[in-house]
Amino acid sequence: MSSSYLIPRPDPSLLSIVVPCYNEEQSLPLFDAAVTRFIDESPYPCEVILVNDGSGDRTIDFLAGWSARDQRIKVLSLSRNFGHQLAATAGVDYATGDAVVLIDADLQDPLQVIHDMVTQYRLGYDVVCGQRTGRMGENLFKRATAWFFYRLMQAFFLKSLPHDVGDFRLMSRRCVSSLRSMRELHRFLRGMVAWVGYPQICVRYERQARAAGTTKYPLSRMIRLAWNAAVSFSPLPLRVSFFAGGLMALLAIEEALRALVAYHSGRTVPGWTSLMIVVCVSNAVLLVTVGILGEYVARIFEESKGRPLYIVADAWNFAHESSAPSAGRSAGDEQQTAAQARR
Ligand code: UDP
Ligand code: MG
Repeated sequence: MSSSYLIPRPDPSLLSIVVPCYNEEQSLPLFDAAVTRFIDESPYPCEVILVNDGSGDRTIDFLAGWSARDQRIKVLSLSRNFGHQLAATAGVDYATGDAVVLIDADLQDPLQVIHDMVTQYRLGYDVVCGQRTGRMGENLFKRATAWFFYRLMQAFFLKSLPHDVGDFRLMSRRCVSSLRSMRELHRFLRGMVAWVGYPQICVRYERQARAAGTTKYPLSRMIRLAWNAAVSFSPLPLRVSFFAGGLMALLAIEEALRALVAYHSGRTVPGWTSLMIVVCVSNAVLLVTVGILGEYVARIFEESKGRPLYIVADAWNFAHESSAPSAGRSAGDEQQTAAQARR
């Protein structure tokens, strides 16, 4: 990975741990125990920002109770399910630490790895990604699709995207500030962090099986994330359709020449089969092309609405409402939010 000029720095004066939670009532008691032990023993002060992403179970009750017991636990509750990438964005926006760690609530990523990340942070790295050496408790299909996904992304879309890296990562304050200035709606956070640049490095770890509950990333969501990643970082899909169109045009010329030759040699072929093939394939290419164009147009339309990325319904343990950015497009502005800071 890129390693430019590194300036060593001390431990973060505050480490923010951001945790998106969606229907995690089963994992949270285990997560509570592990995180409380971690921050009690941590050599640097920590705050934990838990984002309830419109859970339908008792997640928010647990989080509210936990934040009442421990002032270091801050809770944001979004008004509905916005998805993992936006819930994580909300948490990162509200984090105040010098370094921000993004982690899941299911203990798949061991908390102790955070210490390794901070070691790299002290060396001067701005982004420290957790790189999975193994993925316990995940089936062959998930592992194979993940392997394929990272290689494809790296080859065609974002060369700087490290492979086998999820959203588990540490980011320095200046990286978080850059990330906060990027307010696009369709977010692929790990790609955006790679795009931001700054010195980045990976620490390797063994990914554990989920502590409890089930994955909130079924195949359909994974495909959506992959599609987002592909079309957010490159106009390549548009070009693919252009080249497919070009190939079809060549094929059409070849067919036309063949028909002419056949005509002049006196062999009038029925030609129905070849005609059908050309018509079908060219129609298919046209439709695919229009579909891909439509996808980009839809994105322009959605971005042009300028809607907030997420809406915070409630917040616990945040000192001042104004200290947190609004839910709006610009992360630093003071627009109104629906958040009621509860002290
Ligand atoms: N998550 C979320 N909103 C969603 C889906 C997931 O906040 O719409 C959270 C979830 O609670 C977990 C993290 O995102 O903390 C990663 O999800 P999960 O562990 O289910 O994904 P996997 O590790 O299986 O890819
Ligand atoms: Mg998980």
